[in-house]
Amino acid sequence: MSTSTPSENSCKPTALPSTWLGVMGGGQLGRMFTHAAQAMGYKVAVLEPSSDCPAGHAADHLLAATYTDANALSELGAQCAAVTTEFENVPAESLSTLAAHTFVAPTAACVSIAQDRLAEKKFFTECAQASGVLPAPHQRIAVAADIDALPDSLFPGILKTVRLGYDGKGQVRVTSKEDVRIAFERMNHVECVLEKMLPLAYEVSVLAARGADGQAVVYPIAENVHRDGILFTTTVPGPNVSNDCAKRAQAAALEIIHRLGYVGVLCVEFFVLSDGSLVVNEMAPRPHNSGHYTMDACITSQFAQQVRAMARLPLGDARQHSSAVMLNLLGDLWFTNNSQHPIEPAWDELLAIKGANLHLYGKDDPRPGRKMGHVTFVAEHLAEAQKQCLAACQLLGIQA
Ligand code: ATP
Ligand code: MG
Repeated sequence: MSTSTPSENSCKPTALPSTWLGVMGGGQLGRMFTHAAQAMGYKVAVLEPSSDCPAGHAADHLLAATYTDANALSELGAQCAAVTTEFENVPAESLSTLAAHTFVAPTAACVSIAQDRLAEKKFFTECAQASGVLPAPHQRIAVAADIDALPDSLFPGILKTVRLGYDGKGQVRVTSKEDVRIAFERMNHVECVLEKMLPLAYEVSVLAARGADGQAVVYPIAENVHRDGILFTTTVPGPNVSNDCAKRAQAAALEIIHRLGYVGVLCVEFFVLSDGSLVVNEMAPRPHNSGHYTMDACITSQFAQQVRAMARLPLGDARQHSSAVMLNLLGDLWFTNNSQHPIEPAWDELLAIKGANLHLYGKDDPRPGRKMGHVTFVAEHLAEAQKQCLAACQLLGIQA
């Protein structure tokens, strides 16, 4: 699906391959972005505080500096024809600083909305006028007195920090105002939002990408299963997703990306409730874990798409050519059989499964809950990919 709106940035010249692209952040998303950019002939510079990081090992140049280091930002800006971010909590001011030197996509303004759950929900509510897809009922808690004013209708709920949450961190489930008081205290009175706990039937996400010329593409809807707050599997096409639900979610994601005037890849997470209604949860201003399946199952991967968008090249075809199940590989896998020391999983046996595509992020230090890699099973029919994933779970000692 492809749509367009006019854009103020369309006059920016294309960054042609052989020039440099920059990325803020050195994690696995930056690493896979780097690989995609290099495959297209670009050189990649990464700015990240740690000198030992997944993207740094792949990059042509690593600037090991804090995200606010003025010298490093001006060096990155001077070197690169465009800069993006792989880390959603990169200070928005650093993106503004970079924008004085080079083309930055997504912009500080877009990223700062995604960094603030309240600003994000306000923005989603505006978008709902066109899309009809609202965020969960919620209320801001800035000071302890706000807790008294919470309506009973928000309980049971989830208290979330307004900033810096990821993988379910910075969240507490609450059933009463007293619970909120205790949790708010434990969070050191940082600004929070209480969200009503909704009856989820399943969770989905939609990746969209928009170019500087206002053209946008949207990927097929993905169905996501989380475990302990971390993405466990992504299945596309989603076994529970109806055509109507997919269309509404894709239209809502496109409304969001256009209204933001966003350039780059954006992922929007939704809840589907037991009555079939759709609720928008949050957005990630970058490629997303639930979009990893695109590397093996779509014509243009989310990382190649990010390269195209920031370089002001035509966007790629977002069509899916194979059914896919993506399984995250967490550090826990190195410690099955109660071993004290990490033991490398049997990758040879995993790769013997037809349709398996292994992606490891080059992290030396496996720890429980740490994302070490992912494997995507692709097949002509979904049932086949699901069978392959099940076999892999058995092999790796993952409870399916
Ligand atoms: P991530 O960065 O991994 O996406 P996060 O820390 O930003 O996670 P959310 O996506 O807001 O947090 O929530 C994590 C999970 O908690 C959701 O995927 C969903 O399973 C559950 N959840 C969050 N909000 C609600 C809600 N209002 N009702 C029911 N379940 C919820
Ligand atoms: Mg989430």
